[in-house]
Amino acid sequence: MTTQTLNTSHAAGLPAGTEAAVLHGARDLRIEHRPLKSLGANDVLVEMRSGGICGSDMHYYADGRNGTNELRQPTVLGHEGAGVVIAAGTAASIAAGTAVVIEPALPCRTCPTCLSGRYNLCPAGTCFGSPPTDGLFARHVVVPEAALHELPGSIPAEIGAAIEPLAVAVWAVQRAQVQAGHRVLITGAGPIGLMVAQVAAARGASEIVVTDVNDDRLAAAAKFGATRTVNTVATPLDLKGMDRLIECSGNAHALHDGILTLAPAARATVVGQGRPTVDGIPLGFLQRYEIDLVTAFRYANAFPAAIALASAGTVDLRSIITGKYPLAAAAEALTAPVTDPTNLKIIITY
Ligand SMILES: [Zn+2]
Ligand SMILES: [Zn+2]
Repeated sequence: MTTQTLNTSHAAGLPAGTEAAVLHGARDLRIEHRPLKSLGANDVLVEMRSGGICGSDMHYYADGRNGTNELRQPTVLGHEGAGVVIAAGTAASIAAGTAVVIEPALPCRTCPTCLSGRYNLCPAGTCFGSPPTDGLFARHVVVPEAALHELPGSIPAEIGAAIEPLAVAVWAVQRAQVQAGHRVLITGAGPIGLMVAQVAAARGASEIVVTDVNDDRLAAAAKFGATRTVNTVATPLDLKGMDRLIECSGNAHALHDGILTLAPAARATVVGQGRPTVDGIPLGFLQRYEIDLVTAFRYANAFPAAIALASAGTVDLRSIITGKYPLAAAAEALTAPVTDPTNLKIIITY
């Protein structure tokens, strides 16, 4: 193996390369040896212990694209990941051996949007595993120390990847402004919807209705705090006077029908990634009742709350993980939720 590009840290015995799951095109995932980025002063080398499969990873694998972003060069997938620090750059202070979860979106930290605190919206931001930026489905990853959150002993790195979707749920509930006593409708009982249900319950929602088209997922929702579940294939939604809609399915009909359940001055929050444009939003109804329609994109400052909720057991990370696959079986992991729709969160265990 060549050592010419390696810095002193690598020369000191750290791995110069690593094994990674690289997507070359739709349904063409290869486990390959990849050189590791050299460790900058503010960087940390993380040995990965868990990587979560997200809907976006599944889209890249199945179609070579996700929404408007297309795979144009071989890219390591994965943006949900946790591991253990094995080396730190000269200016990084985190100790080797620390268990960490990685906040995958990397903002520029200097633009007006970042400086305002809305760093998740940084126009220049990149994200691990969002092509062409390489992701976390690799045995080792070099990460800026600023992207790390320390995991308490109650959350082993082996399940720590599930903190990332929980941060999505925390931010969704925050954007939705769920308050004690609220009646909340959650459309979509995938991992995000199920975590949103638990976070909404923790924030004091008095009623949590969860809809989906899959009875297994609705059964899971009932375990995770839903006070009522509705399979919208079998039963039309006959709700009225809901305070909050949190749309987690990406389905335009779910958004439309969910909005129509809302009370005057209520709030609808779009979390699930739908099509780039959606016709038929009931704008007249929204305006007549001054219902706020807002969106949520990733998260800002949500990892600490996510870690606290999981650490306290308020949100159950373990039960949401329904399958574990070694890195060598990453392609199988990426299709597991399609092969077996009873799956919730699938984890790569390295
Ligand atoms: Zn994700
Ligand atoms: Zn920025």
